[in-house]
Amino acid sequence: MICAICGNQVIGICGTINIAYPSLDLRGGDGFYHFLQPDFNEGNEDDEDDEENIEYSFVPSYCCFCGYATDDITEELPRARELIKTAAYKKIILEEEDFFNESPKKNRKTLPQDAVACNAAAFLYEKEGLLGNAALQSLYAAWVCDDTKGKKWQAIRFRKQALSLIEKMRKQGNFLRNRQDVTELITVDLLRRSKQFDVAILTADKFLKTAATHGNPLLKNSLQFEKTLSSQKDGKDHSILEIISHWNSIPFSSFTIAGIQYRQKQGFVRKQRKMMLNRPVSLVAEPENEHDRNAIAIYWNDLHIGYVPRRRNREVGALLKAGYEDVLFATVTDINLDEYIDRQIVVTLSILGKNPPDPNYFFMTILA
Ligand SMILES: [Zn+2]
Repeated sequence: MICAICGNQVIGICGTINIAYPSLDLRGGDGFYHFLQPDFNEGNEDDEDDEENIEYSFVPSYCCFCGYATDDITEELPRARELIKTAAYKKIILEEEDFFNESPKKNRKTLPQDAVACNAAAFLYEKEGLLGNAALQSLYAAWVCDDTKGKKWQAIRFRKQALSLIEKMRKQGNFLRNRQDVTELITVDLLRRSKQFDVAILTADKFLKTAATHGNPLLKNSLQFEKTLSSQKDGKDHSILEIISHWNSIPFSSFTIAGIQYRQKQGFVRKQRKMMLNRPVSLVAEPENEHDRNAIAIYWNDLHIGYVPRRRNREVGALLKAGYEDVLFATVTDINLDEYIDRQIVVTLSILGKNPPDPNYFFMTILA
C-alpha cells in the first residue's frame, strides 16, 4: 500500500492473535474477526463470497518511513500532516523496540511495533476528535502488550488510556460502536485488568442497576462475573466461555413481541396473552415480507402472534441463518398486561445444550 502522507510503498503488518475464545473485553478468539473491529459488519451483508478476504488483524496500518498510523494509511486524516511532525507524536514513535540494540533495562520501556502503531493511531484519532477510534486503538495496544512477554505494565498503561478516552466519550453521550451495554462491559473489564479492583466492583454494581444491560442476559452475567473476579483481585484475561460453558441453557437476549395489535383480529386476545408465561414460541424468518425482508415472525403453536422488534431482527436473523435453529429456544419469560400492547410479552432467547456452538461465532453473532 502507498502511504498517503509520504508516498512510500509500505508492507502491511500482521498483528498478533493467539487467544482461543472471546475475552470479556470482546476481543475475538483465534483467527476471529472481533466485534470491536472498526468496520465489523459494515458493507454489503449479502456478499458472502467475500469471507475469505476478511482481514483478521486488529492493528492499524503503519508507515515505517514517516510514522503515519491509522486504520488505513492510504487515506489522509485532515490534520495528520501537521500532527505527525509534532514532538508529542515523535515521542510516541520512538517508543518502538530497537532489536539491534536491546538491553534488558531498555527493553522494559520500549514497545512492540504493533503497539507503537496502535498508540500512534490513538494519538491521531484523539486529536481529530474521534474518541471512539482512539479508545479502541488504545485497547488494541493493550492486546498487543498482552501477547508480548514482559509488557504487563505497558498493557495496564494502555488500558488506563482507553478508560480515560471512554470517560470523555461518555461525557459527550457517546459509546463504543454506539452500544451502551458493550461500553459498560468493556469499561469494567478495563478497570479490572488495570488492577483497579474496588472501582471495578463499584462500577459493575452501578451498571447492573442501569437499564443498558437488561436486554442482554449474557452481558449482565459477564458483569457479574467481572465482579467475582475483581473481588478475587484477578486481573488476568478471562474468556466468555467461562460464563456460558457450565450452563445447560444460555439465555442471551430478551425483547418484547412487536405488532401484537395487528394480531388481535386473528384471535390473539387478552385472555390468551395472559396464559403465555413460560410457554415456548417459535421464530420464523420472512424473507418475502414486503415491509421488511429481515422480518422474523413469532408463532405460538400455529398462531401468528407478532414479530421480533425491528431493531433486533438482524441479531436473531443472523442466528437462524447461521444454522442455530435446532438449538435456539425462545420462551415467554414475563407478561405485563397493564403495559402498552407491544411491551406486554417478554421473550427470552437461549441456546440449549451442553456443547454450545463455536463460542466465537455465537458471541459475535449475538452482538451483530
Ligand atoms: Zn509515510
